[in-house]
Amino acid sequence: MGTGFFFPLCAIPFSLIIILSFYKKGHIKSKETVIYSSLLLSNLFGLIIEILCTYASKIYTTHYVISILIYKLYLLYLIFWVSTMAYYVYSMIRNENVINEKRIPLFFIYYLINFIILILLPIKAVISDNFETRYTTGLSVYYTYLISFIAVIFIFIILLINKDKIKNKRYVPVILFLLLGSLVAIIQMFWPQLLLMTYCETLICVIMYFTIENPDVKMIEQLNIAKSQAEKANNAKTDFLSNMSHEIRTPLNAIDGFSQLILEEDDINVIKDEARDIITASQNLLEIVNGILDISKIEANKLEIVNTEYEPSKIFDELIKLTKARIGDKPLDFRVSIDKDIPDYLNGDYVRVKQVVLNLLTNAVKYTKEGFVEFKVNTVKKDGVCRLIISVKDSGIGIKKENIDKLFTKFERFDLEKNMTIEGTGLGLAITKKLVDLMHGNIVVNSTYGKGSTFTVAIDQKIVNKEKKEEVKEEIKVPKSIVVKGKKVLIVDDNLINLKVAARLLSTYKVATEEVSSGFDCLKKIEEGNSYDLILMDDMMPKMSGVETFKKLQEIDGFSTPVIALTANAIAGMKEKYLKEGFNDYISKPIDKKELERILKTYLIELN
Ligand code: ADP
Repeated sequence: MGTGFFFPLCAIPFSLIIILSFYKKGHIKSKETVIYSSLLLSNLFGLIIEILCTYASKIYTTHYVISILIYKLYLLYLIFWVSTMAYYVYSMIRNENVINEKRIPLFFIYYLINFIILILLPIKAVISDNFETRYTTGLSVYYTYLISFIAVIFIFIILLINKDKIKNKRYVPVILFLLLGSLVAIIQMFWPQLLLMTYCETLICVIMYFTIENPDVKMIEQLNIAKSQAEKANNAKTDFLSNMSHEIRTPLNAIDGFSQLILEEDDINVIKDEARDIITASQNLLEIVNGILDISKIEANKLEIVNTEYEPSKIFDELIKLTKARIGDKPLDFRVSIDKDIPDYLNGDYVRVKQVVLNLLTNAVKYTKEGFVEFKVNTVKKDGVCRLIISVKDSGIGIKKENIDKLFTKFERFDLEKNMTIEGTGLGLAITKKLVDLMHGNIVVNSTYGKGSTFTVAIDQKIVNKEKKEEVKEEIKVPKSIVVKGKKVLIVDDNLINLKVAARLLSTYKVATEEVSSGFDCLKKIEEGNSYDLILMDDMMPKMSGVETFKKLQEIDGFSTPVIALTANAIAGMKEKYLKEGFNDYISKPIDKKELERILKTYLIELN
């Protein structure tokens, strides 16, 4: 190391300026930035050690051990810098943004091993007459060359493998490093006393700072990524709204059209027919709204799996009944095979299990004109867990190979010209897939276009070990058409149409009703001493909500009328929420007649 030490000396101010400016500016803490900062700091360390090497040669004969230690520290720096650079390029190519904490101890071990090897291997300094190191030689120097060579080859190979990415200007400093590094290595072979390597590394750090590692450039890069993500999200929302607007308008058009026709129609049979079509369209509308609710909950990560104990055989019986009803008089052979060894009780989210299977069965019926729909449930039991393997097979239209991958994407519907008459939103399978994922299950599709499809779902459910209750088939003595005379119900709702619908529905059971349009009026009625057998209470009312009104009712002395929450807030978990608030029961809008009858039977008819 001779006059060449001027190179590292000149490089120190550059290194200091870059370090100060890098740390003074707030920068994003990405993996690359962290690696770059260690390249920067170690380079300053390397420059100082390289200058110290000149001093080491002066004390080579007097303080041999110290000078050898300085030389070896410099070699260790070279290994550190070139290996870290290789890791930087690797992370850059793999686009790894997060620091993998598990790898940190591995680096320590790697550098420690290198340090030990360097300490153990011999080194010799060739000193000139004026006590300046001409160069160092020996096995530890060759070892450093070897590691540096391997690191450079590694960088070269990964760049070659990913050559399509290299066009990106992010790789310019890396390519420069390879070119400059090789050039300097050749120069040093002939003039080993020229200390160019660390200087060249400072140069690379400076170039990196002004190109890819500048905090401002990084910030702009991140801002651009955030901007394009925001744009994508915005476009998805626009697509969603336009899709939904179309989906909602279809049944709405039927409801509006048939209602107008009914107003002008005198024939009672035609009116009844059209009213039935209105009901079907309303049910479709409700399904769409429920689907949107589910999708938006899934996307907001708010959909939770609520595990409770349930009887699987009951769920499958219900599914069979529902599917038979959907098939109606379609010429379809409905084949069912449920494993007889299915446990009596399982623990899981049966509402979601049912939703998943119902969706598959409904699709099978929808997309099969003739032939069969087969519903199979098999089980595998192990270590207290029962794997439900549910398959739904059909002889329907099938799905083209190229569409299979898109099947679980929301709003994707295929063969639209063929399926014109089949109602659907393209949300069902997207929801199904998310639900299966949330339950840590699996769903696979096998389909031959024109021949049919098989959807198979596997979900693990915990087995609950307990004796099966003997079912006592109690004859519930309820008249077929319920008539509730002499009872009075108070309906509280701020929407006049809703009040009218509820009152009209109740009048078909001969229930007397009174209607009020706010929580205040409800309280007034009770405080005035009016008594009712039941109160149906809407929740979302301005000024005083249903829950608030309910709380105030509870404070009235002697108040004991059952209060039922009546709300359009129908997402899962709502029933539990209202029951927790103290309501006696819950019924969702639009009011389902069967649910209303259940309420009437429970609260207004005394069974004996
Ligand atoms: P939807 O049925 O409401 O359109 P899904 O998400 O349930 O939405 O299904 C997406 C698409 O996948 C359907 O539009 C249909 O083209 C296709 N598909 C789903 N199930 C079947 C099936 N069993 N047979 C043929 N095609 C199917």
